[in-house]
Amino acid sequence: MSPVQYTVAVRDAHAHLFDITLTVAAAGRRQVLALPVWIPGSYLVREFSQHLQGLSATSNGRPVALQQLDKHRWRAEVEAGARLTVSYQVYAFDASVRTAFLDSTRGFFNGTSTCLRVVGQEDRPHTLTIAPGAAPAGWRVATGLKPTQVDADGWGRYSAADYDELVDCPVELGSFWSGEFTACGVPHRFVVSGAGAWFDGDRLLDDTRRICEAQIRFWHGDQAPPFQRYVFMLHASADGYGGLEHRNSTALICQRADLPRRADKPRALKATDGYTTLLGLISHEYFHTWNVKRLRPAEFARYDYDRENYTGLLWFFEGFTSYYDDLFLRRAGLIDDATWLQLQAKNINPLRQTPGRLVQTVAQASFDAWVKYYRVGENTPNATVSYYGKGALVALCLDLTLRQSGSSLDDAMRALWERTGGGPLREADVRRVLRQLAGRSLDAELDAWVHSTAELPVESLLQAAGVKVQDEPVPLAQQLGLRVSETGGAVQIKTVLRGSAAEAAGLAAGDEWLGIELAPLKRGQAAEAWRIGKLDEVAWLRGARPRLVALVSRDRRLLRCPLEWPAAAQAVRLSAQDAAAVGRWLGG
Ligand SMILES: [Zn+2]
Repeated sequence: MSPVQYTVAVRDAHAHLFDITLTVAAAGRRQVLALPVWIPGSYLVREFSQHLQGLSATSNGRPVALQQLDKHRWRAEVEAGARLTVSYQVYAFDASVRTAFLDSTRGFFNGTSTCLRVVGQEDRPHTLTIAPGAAPAGWRVATGLKPTQVDADGWGRYSAADYDELVDCPVELGSFWSGEFTACGVPHRFVVSGAGAWFDGDRLLDDTRRICEAQIRFWHGDQAPPFQRYVFMLHASADGYGGLEHRNSTALICQRADLPRRADKPRALKATDGYTTLLGLISHEYFHTWNVKRLRPAEFARYDYDRENYTGLLWFFEGFTSYYDDLFLRRAGLIDDATWLQLQAKNINPLRQTPGRLVQTVAQASFDAWVKYYRVGENTPNATVSYYGKGALVALCLDLTLRQSGSSLDDAMRALWERTGGGPLREADVRRVLRQLAGRSLDAELDAWVHSTAELPVESLLQAAGVKVQDEPVPLAQQLGLRVSETGGAVQIKTVLRGSAAEAAGLAAGDEWLGIELAPLKRGQAAEAWRIGKLDEVAWLRGARPRLVALVSRDRRLLRCPLEWPAAAQAVRLSAQDAAAVGRWLGG
């Protein structure tokens, strides 16, 4: 079968344009071409076709008419078997991991943004020639695609078994830092763009290798993992963060300040919080290599690139991956038990502070990801729950429940891998495996934790496992039920949480909190009014008064909002009560 052939070349870095040429050896009659509307792993219709331009087609040197069918599909007016060549440009200036980017410092693209799908020929072999075109001198190529004819810098032709593989292998271009290591016999490459000379690549390689080895052994023991090579593509930027998983690679973005620095040597015993965050991201995306790229929702057995692909299982695929990302930092020896417990508290507390947990189940949150999770607004915390955060706590609860009967979530994950052959999975598979391992049905637990808005028994399960759970006061904004931004002496209200004192006072998202009025403390004293520049000023100006009046500006109108001071709210702090028991649990 002749392959579907693409060439992607840098057309103009300053104009952020890639040139793409697609050649189909034998097109279908009236061949349809389609650009995906979403990228697997990021559950939002992103309409990548908005950045496609200059589309034209020829057949054996003659122009071919292209009829646009809808927002992302075109029909080439050719006879069956005709050779079809299609040319277009893609504007690439989104610095996220989801689309494409090109400027004079680097290039990056996903096939979902750049490669039109030849409808009906998806299962044929595909080739991608990555050509420098007008790329700056010194640029190289990194990708998980299989090289078939490339030069020392990686320019040249790559191959994929089918369209799915082609678009599941993003490409990084530039004069990046590059290092390599072997984990359990599998070669891994790590490229980093955006770092300075101070960047400690050796440390990043060493720590990442430990995570990879721990995960490969977790899934396969001494056996080989289901990929022959793996590529990490990390872009360090001023304030970015994010990652997207792929079958044998991942695209990551971190804050430049979170990279390890040579000046940190001799190695501090503890990583900085920022570096721990980066290692957690690396661990997360690598765990997805198994959990969602192979073991995956039955609905994703075959991706439909034309529309939303609904699944109610993101609590499992994102939440359980979030549970294991931190756990593998501990198992790789990169954090200690105390740090791991702190990371769990950082997951428990935001859920407690999300009124939406009482509105939406985590299964509904999964299904609704397409319209809710990636569309954050002022009402998001009131109406939704994160399938990452709550999903990770469901995993924690299941792990602790299984451990009470001598099994563990580790056993469950491996049993699911066995049961499905590392393929499509349904919730019924999860329930069956849990029943086998626990020796009893855990359906009631799953119904309550996943399909209801009941509170999770996280604290009691942690206490039974040897963890000390203590209260600590929450910050003022949380106590009042607000999320604010404070810049230039202005307190802007971003969100008012459902059922909070701030809501009862009539404060609203978009208000600027200007000041407060305070009643006299004693007879004969005058009332006071103060301008505030920071939210914390409200607490100390208030003293012990049980109420005050908030002065806010809304749509240029000044409003007085009487605020009853709420009782102090508490967050949890976790520490090991029985260090040996916690150590045994976390060690696997
Ligand atoms: Zn994820």
